[in-house]
Amino acid sequence: MSELADPTAAAALVADDTRYMREALRLADAAAVRGDVPVGALVVQDGAIIGVGFNTREGAADPCGHAEIVALRDACRSTRRWRVDGATLYVTLEPCPMCAGALVNARVRRLVYGADDPKAGAVRSLYQLCDDPRLNHRLEITTGVLAGPCAAVLSEFFRSIRERRRGRARGARWR
Ligand SMILES: [Zn+2]
Repeated sequence: MSELADPTAAAALVADDTRYMREALRLADAAAVRGDVPVGALVVQDGAIIGVGFNTREGAADPCGHAEIVALRDACRSTRRWRVDGATLYVTLEPCPMCAGALVNARVRRLVYGADDPKAGAVRSLYQLCDDPRLNHRLEITTGVLAGPCAAVLSEFFRSIRERRRGRARGARWR
């Protein structure tokens, strides 16, 4: 019987997905306090977290500093291998083309993400890179886990930036 055909196993999987996504959300918060767009990711292999990451694009001035890449590099440092066979990557936002490509290249078994990214998503929204039959590796994909909180952390971040900008503009006029 497959994992998903067994209702007990399926329920356990959903509980795990929610638990790990909460962890990814905590990582997203860590990005926000550093002034980076709040996206968090982690890599789980055999029930253990082997890599964590959050967006560091601004802080590290790194165009590749997306949460997924940071988490994959962290995982590969700890295993000393470039592939993470059997691993699941959790990320709060649908991966972009760069990250979707990295997930395929690292042979991640399963991807679980929270919010869709209609502007840059390369798993479902704009492209379907992670299960394209023309590529040599395909991932199992679960979408929409804690999608509400994952999207809220982003909209809150951008709202606070807009407010700060407005505040500065007002200050400038008063001077
Ligand atoms: Zn990315």
